[in-house]
Amino acid sequence: MRLVLLGAPGAGKGTQAAALAEHFRVPHISSGALLRSHVAAGTELGRKVAPYMDRGELAPAELVAAVVDKAIVRAGPRYILEGFPRTMAQARLAEARHGAALADAVVFLELPDDVARQRLAARKARRRSDDRDPVIIERRLRSFHAETEPVVHYYRSRGLLVTIDAAQPPGAVTAAILDALACTPRP
Ligand code: AMP
Repeated sequence: MRLVLLGAPGAGKGTQAAALAEHFRVPHISSGALLRSHVAAGTELGRKVAPYMDRGELAPAELVAAVVDKAIVRAGPRYILEGFPRTMAQARLAEARHGAALADAVVFLELPDDVARQRLAARKARRRSDDRDPVIIERRLRSFHAETEPVVHYYRSRGLLVTIDAAQPPGAVTAAILDALACTPRP
């Protein structure tokens, strides 16, 4: 089982990826968590991506792709990948590297912008800058629509997309994902 999770900020990607990783007993790969650990460790990569993360902007594709790629190789044939690919450039990099093997299915956690705004404003700050800053929230939502939605359409056109209503409580979202996956043909 190789799953990719996509969703707007606030859609619960991290929570759902953790729940699915536990359910299927497979590694959970989170691009955001990998980048945050580089920032915390003060690596060269961490120093390069920190300003983007602080501004709520996407980090350069080749930096993120390199770190995610290593994690995919380390994880082996089964994983839950969350937060990557987030742009078409990243989707192409991932495809060049892994081809169709990247994902058996792509779960899209769909959430109206207004609900995303409320959730992000209520979240605890995780980074040095304040995630709850309305300017940063709007930037992240804009980037989702401009950069990540094309990735959602791309996987839909490939027949890999499973769309889930992410406005439900977390447990109901997990159950809906597991139900939907049970109906998805496996390779
Ligand atoms: P997340 O925890 O997924 O919200 O990611 C936190 C931050 O890490 C994002 O706001 C971006 O700055 C950066 N980031 C995570 N994943 C990616 C990605 N696939 N491409 C570019 N930047 C990313």
